[in-house]
Amino acid sequence: MQKNSPFITLVTPDAPIAVQTHGGRAKCLQRLFRLDLPVPTTVALSFDAVHRLASGDMPDIPRLIEPFGDDQLLCVRPSSEDPDWGGPRAILNIGINHDRHAALIGSIGKEAADEIYLRFIQAYSEHVARLDPDMFDDIDLSGPDALRAALEVYEDEAEEPFPQDMATQLGGVLRSMARAWEGTSARLLRMAKGAPADAGLGLVVQAMVFGLGRGESGSGVLQLVDGDTGMPVIKGRYLTQSQGREALEAGAKSLFLTCDSRGPSLEEAQPEAFANLISHAQLMRQKLREEMQMEFTVQDGEVYILDGVRIQRSARAAVRIAVALAEEGIISHEEALMRVEPRALNELLHRQVNPNAKRDVIGAGVAASPGAASGRIVFTEAAAQASAARGEACILVRRQTSPEDVRGMHAAAAVLTERGGVTSHAAVIARGLGLPCVVGASSLRFQTKQRLLTARDGRVFREGDILTIDGTNGEVLSGEPEMLEATLDGAFKQLMIWADETRDIGVRANADTPADAKTARNFKAQGIGLCRTEHMFFEEDRLTVMREMIFADDPEDRRAALERLLPIQRADFVELFKIMGGKPVCIRLFDPPLHEFLPSNRTGMRDLAEALDLPLSDVERRIEALSEYNPMLGMRGVRLGITVPEIYDMQARAIFEATLDASKDGAPVVPEIMIPLVSAKREVELVKKRIDAVAAAVRTERGEAFSFRLGVMVETPRAALRAEDIAPHCDFFSFGTNDLTQMTYGLSRDDAGRFMSAYVQQGVYPEDPFHTLDAEGVGELLELGATRGRAAQPNLTLSVCGEHGGSPESIAFCRKVGMDYVSCSPFRVPVARLAAAQLTI
Ligand code: PEP
Ligand code: MG
Repeated sequence: MQKNSPFITLVTPDAPIAVQTHGGRAKCLQRLFRLDLPVPTTVALSFDAVHRLASGDMPDIPRLIEPFGDDQLLCVRPSSEDPDWGGPRAILNIGINHDRHAALIGSIGKEAADEIYLRFIQAYSEHVARLDPDMFDDIDLSGPDALRAALEVYEDEAEEPFPQDMATQLGGVLRSMARAWEGTSARLLRMAKGAPADAGLGLVVQAMVFGLGRGESGSGVLQLVDGDTGMPVIKGRYLTQSQGREALEAGAKSLFLTCDSRGPSLEEAQPEAFANLISHAQLMRQKLREEMQMEFTVQDGEVYILDGVRIQRSARAAVRIAVALAEEGIISHEEALMRVEPRALNELLHRQVNPNAKRDVIGAGVAASPGAASGRIVFTEAAAQASAARGEACILVRRQTSPEDVRGMHAAAAVLTERGGVTSHAAVIARGLGLPCVVGASSLRFQTKQRLLTARDGRVFREGDILTIDGTNGEVLSGEPEMLEATLDGAFKQLMIWADETRDIGVRANADTPADAKTARNFKAQGIGLCRTEHMFFEEDRLTVMREMIFADDPEDRRAALERLLPIQRADFVELFKIMGGKPVCIRLFDPPLHEFLPSNRTGMRDLAEALDLPLSDVERRIEALSEYNPMLGMRGVRLGITVPEIYDMQARAIFEATLDASKDGAPVVPEIMIPLVSAKREVELVKKRIDAVAAAVRTERGEAFSFRLGVMVETPRAALRAEDIAPHCDFFSFGTNDLTQMTYGLSRDDAGRFMSAYVQQGVYPEDPFHTLDAEGVGELLELGATRGRAAQPNLTLSVCGEHGGSPESIAFCRKVGMDYVSCSPFRVPVARLAAAQLTI
């Protein structure tokens, strides 16, 4: 055989074999040869060879089998570029025929020889001759006559004797595997796993080691860590008198590898073979720089290595493995950082449904906040609180949520809504609380008044029934599957330290309450990038004062309400500043879309009438007067600040007084004040003038100095376009990509969930733009705003504080356009830190 021919290559340490031309398995086997491990003779067929084979161009079989010698049986296994793309099943024992069978009886015994022949007849019939696999059903495969019967059945069905010639058998196997790969269903399946349409398949032809016959013979798999936990442990199975993975998986009586209470082990039965295997596995780990599962065969006490595959692992195991390899100096810190998918960290940060647990999926929606929780379903916030008081986990089910539901959300273990998308109220609040949440679950029927939830298959769930919300993938499950707890172990912390040493873009957190701020600090956020002050008023007594302020008809009433809000705000800010210990805190002035703060039903209105000591009809009239056709584009943000300036005056005063109070016994504070929903420079001029006046007043009253930074949220397209006018009045811009996406697309944040999946499925949008920043459209506005802003004000600090701040793709974009930091929900901070680090490597 011509060695190293482009299509057929004998696998040797120096042969020209690459993952991109021969696939991952061929490359791995070459590495094992380089380590001088006992690997049986192997020949690799390139992607080109297999492609030509599928179109009928048979390789030179005599040349292919030349390196194996005359009496060798062979096996063929697939070798795709990425093992996850799958491939046809391996076929073993190619070359067996009457003569070799007779010879094998002499060397390994009749039982083993019969089994080898029988297995090959079955595989050949099904995969090469494409005969009905049921045709052997009537044969007792363990009976003494099984082989003769199988040969007869084959001859009947195929209308020809079973092929006796190695070249015919091998050619048939190779062709069938090549064609299986090119088939439409295999193609669609691998494309769904991310393979390109023209992904190639390599094949490896290897000398068989039987694992059957005299002496200790068998096959097994072995690895040095646990794929679920990542902890070092020798794991695997070994089945005496068996061939290949499939036999092992089916084998009921397999031996465990190490001595334990479960039964006999390979370690006891064959201490020498066991010791060899461990040292081979350790060498593989060291030199292949990866945790591998080793497939091996023992033949008459001698060990052979057939293959090595990267072990499947959970996210927590991936972190432990990467950190352990880096700590042992096997890989670099940078490589460890690159080996963990940032989003996979969610699995460590939140409880998850055990991937091995059975899932009874009753519906699905938008995965709005990761993690999973089970509980009894409740349909009102009062019922959620009652559940919490009883110490019972509950799932809050609502059509959508509003500030009235926030206490219920605090009391619940998870939230499920019929409406909404990734930036709707329920989603934003749940992410802040670290609560699993699925929104926009319109495949389920919500009858909240009747307290019923109907699954797509017609099953009806009532209040008190147990469901599980999987906010990581957006599924709603019936019952309580087994969970895996969150684990922030030493390996996670170490990986994060390396990430922080590596990245060059800042990561802050969006935090509205002291609890959020503590989470942000624990996840090592470099400050608060967005404190939505209206979210500080979700607790009932505060909500009432807030509503009183919104409801006030005249300046006198409003002043009274604001006077009550001032000390509450001041105390909140002092606490936030103290928790953040001198790190920057960016406080956004009120931006309450009014509809979120008004009662939505009669009970709510009655409660409000009682709290405000007003007749119900007055409350109804006022709500009517305040209601807007399109509240997200109505009296929000700076528009409220301009028309009712006392509100921002109060907030500025609370911020400045808190700055002085917190700086007294803590780190000095330089607060950042941010104006929302700006679209014209005059808005900034007006608000800035009043804030400067409040600052001057507080300095005079207190006789103390302080400084602050003032900036705007760039979240309307006009603010981005007119950034050059606005920037001279600002120290910073923070891009609010939630509203900017909403307004650029003309797409409601709260309603888009209803049709988003149809849009994504049909390729209208590549992804949900509220989830992954639309780099082409919204991104262009970001880039424009950043460039124009910096042109007018070179020291302008730039950041993003929309939900995109936590998405790895969006962080890459932000870094590219020169942002100083991103800000995201506290629980997304670690994901952002790792994603940011990967961008620099
Ligand atoms: C935004 O619009 O991107 C933003 C961060 O503000 P909010 O989500 O509060 O509107
Ligand atoms: Mg906004």
